[in-house]
Amino acid sequence: MSSTFTLYVKQKGGSLDSAQKAVTLLKTYLPSIIAKASSFSSADAVLVDENASPTLLETDVIVYIVRNTAKSIIVKKGGSIAMAESNGNILGLTDLNLKICEVYYDRIYDGSAKELSGACYHEAAHILSNLDNSLHKGQNGFLKDAPDYYGTPTEENTDFMAKHLGRKIKMDSSL
Ligand SMILES: [Zn+2]
Repeated sequence: MSSTFTLYVKQKGGSLDSAQKAVTLLKTYLPSIIAKASSFSSADAVLVDENASPTLLETDVIVYIVRNTAKSIIVKKGGSIAMAESNGNILGLTDLNLKICEVYYDRIYDGSAKELSGACYHEAAHILSNLDNSLHKGQNGFLKDAPDYYGTPTEENTDFMAKHLGRKIKMDSSL
């Protein structure tokens, strides 16, 4: 079987330059995941303009970058981001029921593309695995609680992503 996994990053807030650089970094993180995921032959990261709604495969992931928690899409759709409201160190959240991943741009240090790409990778892991904070247990690097996004994803991070790639999520790109 030959199929592609696409990680979309839809920019609804924050710096375009940061988002572009973050997507470029994500492109470099994906090949090592694909190398371990037998059902996928390629992967790509794509930046999406806020007015665009690309057609997603049911296995694709889309992460929304919003300006701040006040612009939360999760809240707009009836979910709760209380966890992020009470902890300013949380860069993004995923609502597994609403199937929404979002990252808060104002929490990214100085618009760092490293942090932004890492936060997108982290939220993608939550939705791919369908795991809440229990995901962090026993993880390191990009996937632990209070992650360090200044390195690169670890072997364990890559294994985790590869293991969960292919789940039929059916996310909405039009939010
Ligand atoms: Zn997390």
